Amino acid sequence: MVANAAAEKAPAPASGGTRRVLLFPLPFQGHLNPMLQLADVLHARGFHITVFHAAFNAPDPVAGYRFVPVGAGVPAADLVPTGSDGDFAGALLRINERLQGAFQDCLREEVLLEEEEEEGARPACLVLDSNLRGMQVVAGRLGVPTLVLRTGGAACLAAYMAFPALCDKGLLPPKDHSQLNMPLDDLPPLRLQDMIFSTTTPHETMTTCLERIVESAKCSSGVILNTFTDLEDVDIQKIIDGVGVPVYAIGPLYKISSGAQSSLLSPDKTCLDWLDKQEAESVLFVSLGSLASMGQEELVETAWGLANSRLPFLWVIRPDAVQGSGKVGLPDGFEEETRGRGMVVNWAPQQDVLGHQAVGGFWTHNGWNSTLESICEGVPMICRPHFADQMINARYVEQVWKVGFELEGKLERGNIERGIIKLFRGEEGGEMRRRANDLKDKATLCIKKGGSSQTMVDLLINRIMSSPSSI
Ligand code: UDP
Repeated sequence: MVANAAAEKAPAPASGGTRRVLLFPLPFQGHLNPMLQLADVLHARGFHITVFHAAFNAPDPVAGYRFVPVGAGVPAADLVPTGSDGDFAGALLRINERLQGAFQDCLREEVLLEEEEEEGARPACLVLDSNLRGMQVVAGRLGVPTLVLRTGGAACLAAYMAFPALCDKGLLPPKDHSQLNMPLDDLPPLRLQDMIFSTTTPHETMTTCLERIVESAKCSSGVILNTFTDLEDVDIQKIIDGVGVPVYAIGPLYKISSGAQSSLLSPDKTCLDWLDKQEAESVLFVSLGSLASMGQEELVETAWGLANSRLPFLWVIRPDAVQGSGKVGLPDGFEEETRGRGMVVNWAPQQDVLGHQAVGGFWTHNGWNSTLESICEGVPMICRPHFADQMINARYVEQVWKVGFELEGKLERGNIERGIIKLFRGEEGGEMRRRANDLKDKATLCIKKGGSSQTMVDLLINRIMSSPSSI
């Protein structure tokens, strides 16, 4: 196990008694899921749960939890970035500014309510998404201790921590295009281009956004990571060394919870029946997650790439997945060409799909949840990252874990077809599959009794319970 202040505590109690834990996820699918999974883990250990959430993109309420909307009536149009070139970092800063005041009122009321109901007992702590530094400042004012949940990988947080040094060295922002391929000696196997999170976000906004994420970790009583030691030990150690607070790598959260998640779109479960009829490891699953999108021309090229590969596929096309037009225009002839061996859905029950024996490959945008889910189900990947941490995740998939490869260059049908064949029919693809299965075994072990993540969960519970009024 990595050397960590978290690991030096006494053995954990079995349950959280009647203490209440407050949680505040970021209102996006890839952030709501892990936070609600964490809530589920804590609830199963006896904690009472309150979930604060932005009034927009509100999660479905869970029986037995208190759900508190924050900022009803706050204008939200510019808080939800649209498309793959959206200014995600700018939206994060605006969410903090706009919800901070409303959150202060909500948190104060929640603390009073808890004191009233539990005879003076205060909530044990507030677990915040690491992008909500503004809310952490509010919690500090009201004397509520915080833990931070980082929903991305450890490699990504370690890279964010190194961002200021790259700026000081004059490498960021890059001066010209020719620099982009430059390897970053302190962050192997990353290149400069993997640190450009969006082409539309100004450098200053990016710098502030990343500073706040790192600050939120350093100002917390502990950092919770949705990853596991055998996958990211080097980067977990960098975080431990850099943040100065205990670090709890307890992932994969979806495997240690009852699988709770709050789908903002309704999953089409008929695809599971369709998968039942396919041969083992024969189907390519294609999904860009909840925010990334493609142009109409890219959609057409993808369609023909899939069709020409002659392999079965399950393709998620969200209603807002195509930029500009607002509607999905699959090319004429595509449906006839792929009838019986292809299925298109608006939204899939992704974890079940990846865990299905018929799925043999995942074309992913490499959001962290998708990457982790693919690894934990032993499914090798075709990587096509779009923005934010996705380039870092894709790079690790290809260069560190070697369980997939990046589909580079322009999205073009021939290129796509070759990529699919490489994964399913090539020798290299077979090796990636074997390594993915090895990682799946490691992920399975880490959540068993005595495994690294299970041990960290006990220590986390112990930390939350460690003092009557604060941690
Ligand atoms: N997801 C899903 N059905 C889909 C596509 C995605 O349930 O059709 C889930 C997926 O399992 C993951 C989350 O949505 O848990 C997406 O998070 P990720 O970090 O991969 O990407 P993001 O949406 O944040 O870009």
